[in-house]
Amino acid sequence: MANDIQNIINKTELNLQDLSQLLNLEGEEQKLLFRKAEEVQLKYVGNKVYYRGLIEFSNVCSKNCYYCGIRKDNKNVERYNISDDDIVNAAVFAWKNRYASIVIQGGERSDNHFVNRIDHLIKRIKEATNAEIGITLSLGEQTKETYQKWFNSGAHRYLLRIESSTKELYEQIHPKDELHHFNTRLNCLHLLRKIGYQTGTGVMIGLPGQTFDDLARDLLFMKEFDIDMCGMGPYIEHKDTPLYKERHKLWHIGKRFNTALNMIAVLRILMKDINIAAATALQAIDPMGREKALKHGANVIMPNITPTLNRKNYQLYENKPCIDEGAEDCGNCMNMRIELANREVGLGQWGDSKHYFNRTNP
Ligand code: SAM
Ligand code: SF4
Repeated sequence: MANDIQNIINKTELNLQDLSQLLNLEGEEQKLLFRKAEEVQLKYVGNKVYYRGLIEFSNVCSKNCYYCGIRKDNKNVERYNISDDDIVNAAVFAWKNRYASIVIQGGERSDNHFVNRIDHLIKRIKEATNAEIGITLSLGEQTKETYQKWFNSGAHRYLLRIESSTKELYEQIHPKDELHHFNTRLNCLHLLRKIGYQTGTGVMIGLPGQTFDDLARDLLFMKEFDIDMCGMGPYIEHKDTPLYKERHKLWHIGKRFNTALNMIAVLRILMKDINIAAATALQAIDPMGREKALKHGANVIMPNITPTLNRKNYQLYENKPCIDEGAEDCGNCMNMRIELANREVGLGQWGDSKHYFNRTNP
């Protein structure tokens, strides 16, 4: 059996069945997969891990994704919106601590006020950091004009998870209305790429009813779309969301975690030079979850630099880690964790996706 796995791992082309089989590995066979992923990681992207200081600047959202704790209709959340000055200060904190990049993430809004506010913020952050900080946005679906505007102002990476590339599953975890359309999501990913962003996507792993084949198709989707970056992690239920009633269908949390690590390792083998983030949700399950991902494929980590007071209200799922820590604690803790994973922090470097520069087509 171990021989079979070794043969699959060494193939030049992995098909759906191969991928599905790899995603299900445990024990000794999983170690073979992890060893290969680490080998590819060290060869193609090196042993550096890059920081993206994460600013979860607002939990106000106009959408109602069935899985998300900050969905519009959840009345049990205290809504917040961090001031512009606090956001700029957080970015300056990241810059001074040589994080080199930030991620601006929040609930999705597309009104003019919001679009212009973000635009203004991007410019202010660039100005306050001598144009040295790299800016990734994670602000959901927007129009082509909005994406272009933010790109022109200085954002150069964008993260928009496809959540699941299986259309039927996507439709099961979102309301059936104009605001939540699979084709719109796909179209947004194409727009981002066309505009010139380093384009990132990802999925949730272990959704109710999701199969290994669905996840294998997600990996093939990423390969075919030719993404530059990926952020994916386990789905974790939240009691104030509609998807909670489907929890009887869930895999055990350990299996979701294990499969998430396998997804990262397999994706590293499949797309050798992309950036892969070690998602925070991994740490919600295992205190060493993100370090494990860094050992076997992931090369980006997102220390939370959101002002502490607001963190408790950005609970996408239960047991979200580090909600009581300040940005300084987060950074120190992170340095230690990366050393434990036998990796080096790429301080002061943007750590852009190598794939973005290696790919020839726009
Ligand atoms: N609103 C933007 C968007 O949806 O792209 C950015 C913020 S959203 C909270 C970021 C990601 O959180 C989503 O893409 C989703 O995959 C993830 N997420 C939401 N609820 C989750 C849950 N219950 N478990 C795991 N991840 C979750
Ligand atoms: Fe809003 Fe994003 Fe949560 Fe969906 S996943 S409800 S768009 S914050």
